[in-house]
Amino acid sequence: MIAEKMKGMVANSSAIRAMFEEGNRLAGIYGAENVYDFSLGNPNIPAPEALTNAMMDVLKEEDPVVLHGYTNSNAGYADVREAVAQNLNERFGTSFEGKNITMTVGAAGGLNVILKTLINPGDEVIVFAPYFGEYRSYVNNFDGVLVEISPDTETFQPKLDEFARKITPKTKAVIVNNPNNPTGVVYSEETVKKMASVMEEKQKEYGTDIYLISDEPYRELVYGDAEVPFLTKYYDNTIVGYSFSKSLSLPGERIGYLVIPDEVTDSADVISAANVATRILGFVNAPTLQQKAVAKCLNEKADIAFYDKNRETLYEGLKKAGFSCIKPEGAFYLFVKSPVGDEKEFCSRAKKYNILMVPGSSFGCPGYVRLAYCVAYDTIVRALPKFEELAAEYRGQE
Ligand code: PLP
Repeated sequence: MIAEKMKGMVANSSAIRAMFEEGNRLAGIYGAENVYDFSLGNPNIPAPEALTNAMMDVLKEEDPVVLHGYTNSNAGYADVREAVAQNLNERFGTSFEGKNITMTVGAAGGLNVILKTLINPGDEVIVFAPYFGEYRSYVNNFDGVLVEISPDTETFQPKLDEFARKITPKTKAVIVNNPNNPTGVVYSEETVKKMASVMEEKQKEYGTDIYLISDEPYRELVYGDAEVPFLTKYYDNTIVGYSFSKSLSLPGERIGYLVIPDEVTDSADVISAANVATRILGFVNAPTLQQKAVAKCLNEKADIAFYDKNRETLYEGLKKAGFSCIKPEGAFYLFVKSPVGDEKEFCSRAKKYNILMVPGSSFGCPGYVRLAYCVAYDTIVRALPKFEELAAEYRGQE
């Protein structure tokens, strides 16, 4: 008999699995080229050539016994951690050292490590809707309590009044995701400053520590002149979770890092607990070949022009069809308003046109749907007439 706690999780994840299966079923009937699958954030562009070369160099250069062995520290190779720290210092004017970096099994691994490190059962973790739905499971893994801040559907910036009201003496952590999945919105510097001052005040009022966890797999994916503030500079108790999954198109390789600055309360304890958490959660250490390879590619990123073209074409095409959505400044998602209140009904109807998208309720924001545009450009071009037909079904119904 499976654990009680897993029953709910299995029920939830079967919705995502059902979507996978639906995509495969439709591709089997109509041919993959006639299925418009916008459901998954799996990059459609290859990793940069520099990364492939770096992997081969690492294989040639490193002693295989060392390369494929456990790392001395569960937090990763010392030289890799140092390289990451120096790269951040160059880019953001910070002063991290290797000890501030813990290499992780992607952002998902990093979030689980830091939540294991910080959360006691019953501690509250605040998230801003819409948010990456997996946060629910990650917080639940450590018997934390997820507290949602309702969405501001005008701007999709965090609602800071509600945030201030919902912080309690039990609030241990706040997770932000910038640029945001599912909206593509970038939280502005102004928002970040206000958020930091709300948290400072509440820490003082309650005499507690509230850790800000900045989940940043999309940091490198920004368009135009959008800038993503580096949060450790605005609030001392900030821990950054980064991933190379999207920036280098490497989601299956499972590599990322946590930044735990010295300014964080009890920093040395947090760093050594994250080290132990990496081990006892069963990760042991982040993949060694990937650690060495990404360390050689810290200034590389995926082809932003590819995503930008997809973004413009899908955004303009959907607008022309009559749909409304905020224009994303980062990541590779569009968050589209459903023409009817029940967005699941909208998703089901879209399936008639072989269009797959994810209901906003998966992100704590019903009434919207998420489209991942990290697909082939051609998929977008061929999908747009289908979106027009879908829109026509709703005309006059709003
Ligand atoms: N956080 C957000 C907001 C994401 O969108 C994702 C993946 O889509 C993750 C974390 C997990 O990323 P990783 O593949 O690095 O574990």
